[in-house]
Amino acid sequence: MSNCLPNFVIEFNKRVKESEVFRSIARDSELQQEACENLESALSEIAQEKQIAVENNNEDYANLLLGCEFAAQSLLHELKMWLLLKQEKPEEAWDHLVGAQMKATRAAKADNGFRHLEHYRQHLEIIEKIVFPPQVFVSAGMIIHEQECSICGEDYDECEHIAGKPYMGNFCHVIVKDVTADHISIVENPADKRCRVTSFNVEGGSRNKMTWKIKESAENTSAPTGYAERTAQLAIEGDEQTAIDYLEKETKEITG
Ligand SMILES: [Zn+2]
Repeated sequence: MSNCLPNFVIEFNKRVKESEVFRSIARDSELQQEACENLESALSEIAQEKQIAVENNNEDYANLLLGCEFAAQSLLHELKMWLLLKQEKPEEAWDHLVGAQMKATRAAKADNGFRHLEHYRQHLEIIEKIVFPPQVFVSAGMIIHEQECSICGEDYDECEHIAGKPYMGNFCHVIVKDVTADHISIVENPADKRCRVTSFNVEGGSRNKMTWKIKESAENTSAPTGYAERTAQLAIEGDEQTAIDYLEKETKEITG
């Protein structure tokens, strides 16, 4: 971030600061909801400002705004997490926690001015450990035959862009075009913590790994495939059906 920040960014920072006070389960839900709405409107303003920066070919500013965008999204995810926990929706809350962690990490990579968000990310890791029960993560192994660069649309192996780096207000990522599902495995440090074992079979049904409640076996059939579908959707974008079919078949054997 440059020493002389544009007014738009100064105003944005003020709005984010105002919302930060609601980062606690003890805060009033209605006020937290209002803070979420404020962040959402700040996000739509950032999108417009970024569009102008892109049209003006101002890459530094576009990337700074990308950092603003991800910082605001990270905070928005955290506020939603607290709201959902109060509504007894821990699984949705978990997804927002992971969203907050991922966005904070990305924001720190968008522009040097957001490096401090690494500390915020560590704070979110602590929340993960003390608020939620331990989770078992899964990772989908894929054989990738073709991958495209999100920035230039060329073969990722042949272009000069680097996945995870910002270019004119967008992060480069790899779009998987042709993939074969190979295996899934239990991992300690997954790329995406939303890919997790959500339930496992116990006598009489299926136990939810988050709430510890047992769903009776008659309703049990969708439980083992839930995370498999999720894994497939999140792991790849190019050939979801192949992966889902494969993973549904494979994960019926996993019992937690
Ligand atoms: Zn490229």
